[in-house]
Amino acid sequence: MKVEVLEKAKRLVEEDKIKVEKVTSEAIIFKVQGDSGLHTVIFDRLTEKWNCDCDWFQLRKVEGSHILACKLWADKLVRDGSSPLWDLQVKFIPQSKARPTKTLLTLALEKLGLTWDQVRDRVLEDDYGVFAINLDNGVLVAKDYKLRGRIVSCHRRALVSAYNQRKPLLMYLAEDDCFYEFSPREIMGCSFQNYKGTALMENFDISLGRKRVIKE
Ligand SMILES: [Zn+2]
Repeated sequence: MKVEVLEKAKRLVEEDKIKVEKVTSEAIIFKVQGDSGLHTVIFDRLTEKWNCDCDWFQLRKVEGSHILACKLWADKLVRDGSSPLWDLQVKFIPQSKARPTKTLLTLALEKLGLTWDQVRDRVLEDDYGVFAINLDNGVLVAKDYKLRGRIVSCHRRALVSAYNQRKPLLMYLAEDDCFYEFSPREIMGCSFQNYKGTALMENFDISLGRKRVIKE
């Protein structure tokens, strides 16, 4: 793969030029706003093949920036959501090894000595699945790792829920294997927002949190 193709794909992701148009059992259809116009990228779930309607791909049948951008974008999503879109069972295999939120929340619950059965009616969900759990002592979210060594994010709804209930935001961070406790009010004052798919996320510095020791 050419470096230029990768750089262009990364830029398309950063500039939020990718949208999922339709998801069926046979295919995932993306729209990519490229430099030369709007393109349709299709991931065929049965054959696991990618197709793009741009001239470049139709001429060469070699993966170009539009397809690569969709792959990178999906890869990025998988770090923050447990979307059924990216479930391995539907034959979309993300390039990243980052774990989905639900897997991380399961880990966090284990550390707290809880099971899904005990929290079943306390989950916060969206189109992509469970993103937080409303516990007595805080709203629990989970992350795999910090971006750039210090930035973590959570679903805005998790933050608002914690704020409204006057509870801390409790984050399990897998790379450190520990919990951090945040004041929702403090985060709201200095976070920045972005969208992951359709989910509005709050990004903030890990140093706003206090490490919390969980007794075994
Ligand atoms: Zn293309």
